[in-house]
This record gives sequence, structure tokens and C-alpha cells, in this order.
Amino acid sequence: MSTGTGSRTALVEDLMERFPGVPREAVFKEDLLRGGVAFDASALSDNEDGEVKPKSYFIFSFDHGTLPELGEAALRRPPEEIILTGGPYDLRRTVVSVRVNPNSPYRVAADEHGVLGLYLDGKRIADVGVPPMPEYYRHKLSNGKSVMEVAPTIQWGYLIYLTVFRVCQYFGVKEECQYCDINHNWRQHKAAGRPYTGVKDVEEVLEALEIIDRYDTQKVSTAYTLTGGAITSKVAGRDEADFYGHYAKAIEERFPDRWIGKVVAQALPKDDVQRFKDYGVKIYHPNFEVWDEYLFKLHCPGKERYVGRDEWHRRILDSAEVFGPRNVIPNFVAGVEMAEPFGFKTVDEAIASTTEGLRFFMSNGITPRFTTWCPEPTTPLGKTNPDGAPLEYHIRLLQAYRQTMEDFGLSSPPGYGQPGPGRAVFSVSSFMDSLPADESYVDNEIAAATVEQA
Ligand code: SF4
Repeated sequence: MSTGTGSRTALVEDLMERFPGVPREAVFKEDLLRGGVAFDASALSDNEDGEVKPKSYFIFSFDHGTLPELGEAALRRPPEEIILTGGPYDLRRTVVSVRVNPNSPYRVAADEHGVLGLYLDGKRIADVGVPPMPEYYRHKLSNGKSVMEVAPTIQWGYLIYLTVFRVCQYFGVKEECQYCDINHNWRQHKAAGRPYTGVKDVEEVLEALEIIDRYDTQKVSTAYTLTGGAITSKVAGRDEADFYGHYAKAIEERFPDRWIGKVVAQALPKDDVQRFKDYGVKIYHPNFEVWDEYLFKLHCPGKERYVGRDEWHRRILDSAEVFGPRNVIPNFVAGVEMAEPFGFKTVDEAIASTTEGLRFFMSNGITPRFTTWCPEPTTPLGKTNPDGAPLEYHIRLLQAYRQTMEDFGLSSPPGYGQPGPGRAVFSVSSFMDSLPADESYVDNEIAAATVEQA
């Protein structure tokens, strides 16, 4: 099946052979997430006027080019996600977040019958499904804003992603995390004349949720995440805990327990964390970003300066006393530890370091999760590492993650839907695809499958 030594196909097939314990679906998914995918004009959406749910740019750009570099994909958005199935590798249903890269060896295109496929090195490797336009995206708020702009859903409709603060108060190269393009993404959407609200009003968030609740009759949406940039001073007169917390409070008062409430915020002092809990938040994500001490200080200069790595970790452990360790799920950006020129030079070293971090948290009952690093070109690390981390690193991380979880008797974290190949919906890394299926798992995923087939 290989197109020859040195091709991307050869790389993928070699890794599949060397790591048979990692599902082949996860190998493709990681490669698509780290390196992006090109879209033929036949596979683009008609933005908010068509039948396909378009990419919402829910927080970062997650693209390998700036908007002006994406060609037609900047005018007619690609789909938010794609689903891979079948093909010569007989793939089980795999949901992949869309990261556009016009130069990728992966390409999504329609054939002469209009049927979408994924092509690698010119050969068709999978059928491609795209998310249907959800009914709630067809209804506007009373101020004219779209639901996609205020409360987009991702993970095949499972998660409502509420980036209520679209910029970060860590600003400029001396403070911004070196892999993060949140501030650039805000600027490029403004420059393109797209609607892109910097600070979302709590009433408009509630109105968007009202619309989702009304039209999501099968209750596919199961969770919401409140997130945005770090707040080092105040936004709208509120500090970070108060700012993100006041949305949670309003949502839980209006829609008690309708969704699993999650907050991504900095590692805050225990009293602030308690406020999140009191407001009805169920899951707290104080992301630790990268484990290695030197690399954390280098890549997260703002966080190091305002909080510091040791204190950050201490606060994560403290928050487990408030939320319970299962409900504290810190994220890390998988791959940045191999970014040149300062990162680990070998996959062995990078995996050893990250596993040390996993063991630190998991030995305390806390299950981290990760997103696959997308080297956006306007970030310092993306500029020097346009190809991201080696695919082997990502595959071995999946192996190490699963092994460490087993060592500490832990299972997949709550609020992510079903684990297992063919079942997972988490779209920005394949950590859920590569965990064992749980036959006793029951939640709204059954409803999600129904919508997909409809
Ligand atoms: S804290 Fe870092 S990762 Fe988070 S939004 Fe700010 S710059 Fe980006």
C-alpha cells in the first residue's frame, strides 16, 4: 500500500507496524492534527448559509497558515470537523478537528459523484463525513449575532465552547505562551471583517444557550467549557475567578445541571477555585501546558512570572481537594517539548519527561489530558517548527498515557464522552480514541450517533 520510502504513507505505515497497540485510527488522527489537511474547493462549506457546519475558530486559529494564506478556505470555511471511516485501512469512525494546511500531503476532496474522501500522497485512504449544520446555528440572537459566534459546538456537538474572553492579558513575546496564537487569531478575524466578540456579554451567552437548548432536542450537547485568555488584572471590573465564574453562575441558575460545566482558567488559589465550585462548575482545567521545568519557564513566560511552575502545580493539587481529583483535568500541549531549538532532541527524552509529569498527577488521582500541538505560523514556536513534533512522539505518548493510567488504576476522565476507537468524540487529540472501550458507558453519545446517521 505504501507509495515508497520517504513518503508520508511510508512513515504512517511504519509506525502502525511498530506500535500495533495504538489504534491505526489514532495514528492518522495525530498526523492530521499535527500537520493539518488541505481542502479541495469541492470540500469547503458555504459558511453559515449551507448544509455543513463550518469551522468556528472557537479559540485559536488551529491552522498552518494565516487567513490570507488559506486561499478559498478563507472565504468558504472548511467544516468544523471531519469523520473518517472505512477505506483500505478499514478505519472505525474517527472524529478529527480541522486544521487547514494547503501544503499537507493529506487532502479532502469530492470525487466525480460528489462523495468526499481523504487522500494521502494522492491515494484515497478513507471516506469522509462532515457535520450537518445544526438547527440551532440557523437561528440568530436578538442582537443579530450568530450562535456559532457566541456559543459554537465542537466534538461532534458534544461540547459547547464558550470562549468568553477572546484575547489574553499575557501580551507580546515576553508574556504570551510561545505556542499560542489567541491574540493573533483575534487580530486576523478583526482584519478580515469577521464578527469576533472580544468579551461576550453574559446575557448573549444565555440567549445562545437558550437557542441550543430549544433545538438540540436529542440532547447531543452534554457539556460546556468556559474559557479564554488569562486575566492578570481585571476584565469588566472582575478578576479571573469572578469573570469566568459569573458566567457559570448565570448558566447554572438558568439551566441547572442541563450541561456538565467546565472552566479552563489559570491555576488559581484555593479560595478562587472554591468559588467556581460554588457556582456549579463540575470540572476544572488548570492547564499545566508542558511538564519540563526549563521548558515551562521558557515557553510560558507569563505564567512563570505571575504564578511560577511550582506554585502552579501546588495549586493543581489543592484544587483536587475542592473538586475531587477526578474532576481536576489539567491539559498539556503535546509536542511542544520537542520544539527546536530548546526542546528535547530525542523522542525518548520527551516521552520520559512527559511521563514523569503524568505520574506526578496520576499518583495523586488527577488525570491530565492533552491536545495535539498545532504549530501556528504566527507563534514563536510555530515559526521555527512548521512541521510540529515527530509523529512517533505522538504515537508513543498515546502508549505512555494509557500505560500510566493503568499503572494508577485510573480510567478516562469524566466529561469527554465514550472512550475507545470508533466511539470517541474528543477531536483535538486522540487520547480518547486510544483508550479501551468501556461497554458499561452510557450517556448522550447514543443520541450523537443517531444525528450522524440522520
Ligand atoms: S495563558 Fe498562554 S495559552 Fe492561555 S491564552 Fe494566554 S498566551 Fe494563550
